[in-house]
Amino acid sequence: MIVIENVAVATVDDADTYHADGHVVVGDDGRIAAVGPGAAPASAGRRVDGAGCLVTPGLVNSHHHLYQWATRGLAVDETLFGWLQALYPIWGRLDAEVVGAAAGAGLGWLALSGCTTSMDHHYVFPRDGGDVLEAEIEAARRIGLRFHPTRGSMDLGNKDGGLPPDNIVETTDEALLATEQAVDRWHDPSPDAMLRIAVAPCSPFSVTERLMSEAAELARRKSVRLHTHLAETDDEEDFCRERFGCTPVEYAERLGWLGDDVWLAHGVHLDDSAIAKLGASGTGVAHCPSSNARLGAGAARVRELLDHRVPVGLGVDGSASQEASHLGEELRQALYTARTRGGPAAMNARTALRLGTMGGARCLGRQDDLGSLEAGKLADLVVWRLDGLGHAGIDDRLAALVLGPAAPVALALVGGRPVVERGELVNADAETLAREATRAHRRLLDKRA
Ligand SMILES: [Zn+2]
Repeated sequence: MIVIENVAVATVDDADTYHADGHVVVGDDGRIAAVGPGAAPASAGRRVDGAGCLVTPGLVNSHHHLYQWATRGLAVDETLFGWLQALYPIWGRLDAEVVGAAAGAGLGWLALSGCTTSMDHHYVFPRDGGDVLEAEIEAARRIGLRFHPTRGSMDLGNKDGGLPPDNIVETTDEALLATEQAVDRWHDPSPDAMLRIAVAPCSPFSVTERLMSEAAELARRKSVRLHTHLAETDDEEDFCRERFGCTPVEYAERLGWLGDDVWLAHGVHLDDSAIAKLGASGTGVAHCPSSNARLGAGAARVRELLDHRVPVGLGVDGSASQEASHLGEELRQALYTARTRGGPAAMNARTALRLGTMGGARCLGRQDDLGSLEAGKLADLVVWRLDGLGHAGIDDRLAALVLGPAAPVALALVGGRPVVERGELVNADAETLAREATRAHRRLLDKRA
């Protein structure tokens, strides 16, 4: 049992209840036993003094490519397509050792940034690379985060009109079989699950129509979720119009890819009719404002998406398309992006926090157990330290968290188990992770054919 008291509490419940001075009690079952104002009820267990802190639900990262930690800082001035074409040949040499080290670093860094649940979109499976999915699952267990990796795929190479080189795509049948095997081997449907798999063909310009539609059938047969990149750049829209004669969202609709079991990465270039389709179908969007800015892809119409009741989560996106990969900072970036497009009323700090917590939980289908601080929900939470130099004098702690600099994490719990304490990882050593990631990066680049 853990009692956090003398702390500000942003619950992110339906009423957005906020306690300027409150408590959270975590039970031995890894779930929240009580949340409320004032002092905690008397109980045994560890007591955490939250003076100067704000407790929120743990942040949920709704889009990422962890393997990219091994290829950060490359092609830094390119568009998405230019950047992909520069990196695909290097990714073709990935193996389980590189992916394990990259995922360890990426997940360790996410934990330190206030993330307690992360998805991962992995879609590069070199033939002699070993079991890269297993490698990243082991990395998540090592750090202690709740993990929703997806079995991604690409089957549309250069010779068939796709963007990736032919040697890094699979055949359609190989991709479908391996995806089904990944679901059978790893997916845990239980409410407390630490590991769930989703089905995730990569993007319209790297996947055939057959793989898209059969992946959707597979996901529905297995009762797992569906994810892909969509409407990220103008280049992608041009590709869709030329090859399929329609917009990316019309293409998704045609292939059975709209629904409340689907969430899409980016959704930057959406017209009014596309936004209405997403809203009507309950299709989610993983908003990745820093990645969109780093690649110059554009600014998503998040205000309009929210007005159409689209579930919107936040994602850092791959570590090589935005080297910061800090989920806590995406709260501010999301607010800035919305206000740059739509003025000061387009988003407030509460909404930014809601996107980073409940919005992400909805994208991953975990809203019944994650995303808010309410009795009975899983005890995935973050105690943010907001009384240091960077936040000194900001009375409104929610404003301090969202508008101030990246806040240190005093304590992060996943299912009631500490994964970060006093700004340090509990289960791994950050310097070791950094050394392993640097070695993996060097090895990958030195493998140059
Ligand atoms: Zn991505």
